[in-house]
Amino acid sequence: MDHFLYKNGVLHAEDVAIPEIAAAVGTPFYVYSRATLVRHFRLFDEALKGMDHLVCYAMKAASNVALLKVLAQEGAGMDVVSGGEYARAKAAGVPGERIVFSGVGKTREEMRMALTGGIRQFNVESEPEMDVLNEVALSLGVVAPITVRVNPNVDAKTHAKIATGKSENKFGIPIAKARDVYARAAALPGLKVVGIDVHIGSQLTDLEPFRMAYRKVAELTELLRADGHEISRLDLGGGLGIPYTRSNEAPPLPLDWGQVIREEVGHLGCQVEIEPGRLIAGNAGLLVSQVIYVKEGEGRRFLILDAAMNDLVRPAMYDAHHDIVPVMEPAPGVEEAPMDVVGPVCESGDTFAKGRDLPPVAAEDLVAFRSAGAYGAVMASEYNTRPLIPEVLVDGDHFAVIRARPSFDEMIKRDTIPEWL
Ligand SMILES: *Cc1c(COP(=O)(O)O)cnc(C)c1O
Repeated sequence: MDHFLYKNGVLHAEDVAIPEIAAAVGTPFYVYSRATLVRHFRLFDEALKGMDHLVCYAMKAASNVALLKVLAQEGAGMDVVSGGEYARAKAAGVPGERIVFSGVGKTREEMRMALTGGIRQFNVESEPEMDVLNEVALSLGVVAPITVRVNPNVDAKTHAKIATGKSENKFGIPIAKARDVYARAAALPGLKVVGIDVHIGSQLTDLEPFRMAYRKVAELTELLRADGHEISRLDLGGGLGIPYTRSNEAPPLPLDWGQVIREEVGHLGCQVEIEPGRLIAGNAGLLVSQVIYVKEGEGRRFLILDAAMNDLVRPAMYDAHHDIVPVMEPAPGVEEAPMDVVGPVCESGDTFAKGRDLPPVAAEDLVAFRSAGAYGAVMASEYNTRPLIPEVLVDGDHFAVIRARPSFDEMIKRDTIPEWL
């Protein structure tokens, strides 16, 4: 459920009419609903009620500091994958003890930053990383709390570009090697083993792969404990999928996922961390765009928008589907016709949808992409020297720009011409 509904024939974000925001900030823009973000966070928090747990929002899904602050105020921890994300979490007021650091390629600089600023744990992904983290921690005179990310070799049955839990993926260490790797970690004085980490992929719409992975983690917990390691924390990753079409998808709910977690690891007495990203932010955001032209092609009709692949890359990158709806509610029973929805960028890949059945839309109409809150704004680029588009946060009947659109001057000033030119 989200808070983007038609009221009196006009699409609203909570109690704010989308055209009102468009008039204030121009198009295209991203708009987020605070109530939806909070609602989704609480679904996870409640799904683990009664267990010692922390929901660490995977902020790579949507990392505007204002969004982070909304979640931090709810008690969320953060899962970060870079020094930049760590800095954002801190800027949003998240204390270090609620930040976990994931990622296969953490640099010394990033490790130093987190060790001095405070960190809950590093989710270590390789033996070389373990050695480097040990060195960095010793050089700072501290001990780094770690989990080791294990790769359980389960098929997440999701898009190949976002599957991470098979042996062929770059993530984690093979679960079969885990006992050796933990023995090695325990021997390094700059590290303290606190638990196990696993994350098998994103946009999972079936609970079975989670169950298989968590079962393997539970077995490993017993083994590692028998080897003398203190396993008090399990980071079970994120990855729960969202419905991208209103009509026919019904992925499992956080509560169902929580049930799987209880069943598979509940008996171990561990503190449980989860790292949902997409499900918290995805349906909490829209991309709003204006139609520039309706162009009649040979046997096709093109809807040319002012948003493009640089603003929302998911369709070009993952063949992802986003529902596209007119901001003015179509009359009931109005006839739909197929259109190719495209942006102005000079690439055929700049296509949001092919042959999509849409109600009649004309130049200057506003349209909204649903489910654009996660992996939308964060993946945007300035390709074609198109400015990064504004982000807007709605709370009830008011809204605020939480990232302004840069001017062309501001963009161009970042380039510098050498004095010898
Ligand atoms: C991307 C990622 C997540 C979040 O995945 P979602 O599908 O957005 O929930 C969580 N943990 C790690 C390690 C990730 O890389």
